[in-house]
Amino acid sequence: MAAPSHASAKPRVGVTALTGRWPLLAQRRPLIAYLFGIVALHLAAVAVFGSSTDFEWADVLTFLALMVCGAVCIEATRRLGMPAGVSRDLLSAWWLPAALLLPPVYALLAPIPLQILLQLRVRATVLYRRVFSSAAIGLAGCMASVLFAVLVGDPASLSRGEGRSIMLAIGCAVVFAVLNTALIAVAAHMADPDTRWREVLWDRESALLDVVELCLGVIVTIACALNLALLVLALPPVVLLQRSLLHAQLQAAARTDPKTGLLNAAAWQREADTEIVRARRTGETLALLIIDIDHFKRVNDNHGHLIGDQVLVGVAATLRSQLRDYDVVGRFGGEEFVILLPRADVGEARRVAERLRSRVGRMAVPADDAMVTVTISVGVAIMSVHGDDLIELLAAADLALYRAKELGRDRVCVPAASRRQPDPGRRPPQQPS
Ligand code: GH3
Ligand code: MG
Ligand code: MG
Repeated sequence: MAAPSHASAKPRVGVTALTGRWPLLAQRRPLIAYLFGIVALHLAAVAVFGSSTDFEWADVLTFLALMVCGAVCIEATRRLGMPAGVSRDLLSAWWLPAALLLPPVYALLAPIPLQILLQLRVRATVLYRRVFSSAAIGLAGCMASVLFAVLVGDPASLSRGEGRSIMLAIGCAVVFAVLNTALIAVAAHMADPDTRWREVLWDRESALLDVVELCLGVIVTIACALNLALLVLALPPVVLLQRSLLHAQLQAAARTDPKTGLLNAAAWQREADTEIVRARRTGETLALLIIDIDHFKRVNDNHGHLIGDQVLVGVAATLRSQLRDYDVVGRFGGEEFVILLPRADVGEARRVAERLRSRVGRMAVPADDAMVTVTISVGVAIMSVHGDDLIELLAAADLALYRAKELGRDRVCVPAASRRQPDPGRRPPQQPS
């Protein structure tokens, strides 16, 4: 399941002092209302389904066994840690059987102990996110549970291998995944309305993970329906998958600048080097942009570092939203960004740089008493025209950026077309920090 991240939300007027202790208050009002609404719905559903359920020993035992498996999974991967922001796990392998094989109240309750364990043993994140996660997973599981009970009636038909029941179990697992994703995506979009729906709802990697989770959940459900003891066989492969998933996420986190979500300087340099070698081999053109926010120090001085950070996040999101998937965007350090544009010639690079400059100029970040706007200066360098390797291109773009600053900022500069000789007196481009 995905865990929500509202890291980019902006504090509202007058609540800044309270937000340290109550981060929920720093969120936008519609988001707060939505989070409360979902949690209230979850609690109401627990009360309604709880009061109409006969708690049978066999069901309670199945529920406890699934929770123990979930807890073992969490404990077995605990030492690896968990990446910040949106993270994925395979815990629905245990929530899905609870939803499909037991009355709906168990699906509503199942996320609670495991989220508490995650909070206490793995990573203490902001409490309201944990509560919201539990509610979203619980409601999605409850919906799948009710649907499966209405359509199939007897969950034991799964243990007889009836094709119709298996197909319906897969269908209900899809409902579970889609509903959970939708509930979290709405929160993510409310936290940051500038992000596109496609970004919060879809990326190939998480779609693949959804399919893996779904398959795993259905297989564990069938095993559990056959015989509860089969959970002992299901547990080790799920733990192993969970470990490799976390490992992959931690690797990705190590490449990312935590503040902006862009590549960090070291990762950007690696990817840029690869692109440059490829361009040299194929003879294709390529452009490099260095972007620096103008007078950024004034933003910090006038509005504080927190607002400065939000401007950085906003600029990073604006840059990313204006570029193609295969453009390589990184934060080089401080308020400097670097972009590699494969297959871009000088005309295309200039057009892209102007578009970025204009979009960033129109972006505004709310501060306590004003809307903060910034401008950027951009230095451009083109492969084979201004340099043949990363160091030469960085040096040429950095020189052009320096020129843009000298000419008054808020502009794009491209060096003269002739190959530049390295200037030993120039400050070298910033290195990874
Ligand atoms: P110029 O137009 O010449 O680029 O002026 P500038 O003020 O942007 O440049 P300068 O290099 O003087 O200041 C950069 C500022 O960026 C100083 C530093 O405090 C700030 N800064 C660097 N990293 C961060 C960060 O992660 N968050 C915040 N809020 N500020 C940062
Ligand atoms: Mg700078
Ligand atoms: Mg600057």
